[in-house]
Amino acid sequence: MTARLPRSRRRPDPALTWARSLRRRRPGLAAFVIERLGGLYGVPAPAQRLDPVSELVLTILSQNTADLNSERAFEALRVAWPSGGPVTTHRVVGPDGTEAPPEGWGGVGLAPGAPPNWSAVEDADIGALIEVIRIGGLANQKGPRIQSALRTIRERSGGYDLGFLAALPPRDARDWLVAIPGIGRKTASIVLLFCFGMPLMPVDTHVERVSRRIGLAPPKAGPDEQHEIYAHLLAADQFYAAHVLLIQHGRRTCDARRPACDRCPIAPRCRFFDPKAE
Ligand code: SF4
Repeated sequence: MTARLPRSRRRPDPALTWARSLRRRRPGLAAFVIERLGGLYGVPAPAQRLDPVSELVLTILSQNTADLNSERAFEALRVAWPSGGPVTTHRVVGPDGTEAPPEGWGGVGLAPGAPPNWSAVEDADIGALIEVIRIGGLANQKGPRIQSALRTIRERSGGYDLGFLAALPPRDARDWLVAIPGIGRKTASIVLLFCFGMPLMPVDTHVERVSRRIGLAPPKAGPDEQHEIYAHLLAADQFYAAHVLLIQHGRRTCDARRPACDRCPIAPRCRFFDPKAE
């Protein structure tokens, strides 16, 4: 049994230390960013996009590729191994019936349709699966990763239903998913935030870059470190909006190479724009 260190000798949690220091040095910064970006892009409304297993597989397909390619690969799975199950709607349908991609999603959104037959995908010849999802890029890695994830879910839960995760504390649910080979905190957090509204921050390349520039995270903080910082920085009802808005800002305004600071509402408090900003 590991001896418990006295409180004074325990290592401080760097994410908690940063979040506390930021609140003291630059009070209200996270709320300011959410409020200003909500004014620019519209306040995002939490909405479940897909069932959790579909969300997980779509997120695996989207790793290191454009969202448009990953949704083409997912559609190809639906065609190759149809399930005839209930139809899910990925796109957002407005009051006038017009369809739009889900908030924060970079593709056109999946057409309404049933999930693929996950049992058939798990049992498929790996070469056939790789060919079907080739359009999504990195198919040689993603094919085995998808089958391994489906196998683990079936063996550990008795089926292809991740609904039981809703009953777990968020970090336990995240750790359950992260224990699946090839699933990191970003992928796990996307599933848990979008499907169950859990207060976890998926940190993709846009969130990572914009957070560093504004100074919400330290200059060298990577995705996992930022994930932990946001856990201490945001209230439970801020995660969805913060995630979606930071992605939108990274795509539309705070470009990696040429950020449009002259038309950015965050500029007065952004450390990239003004190194002394508070
Ligand atoms: S001021 Fe510039 S660097 Fe800062 S968030 Fe806006 S666009 Fe990005």
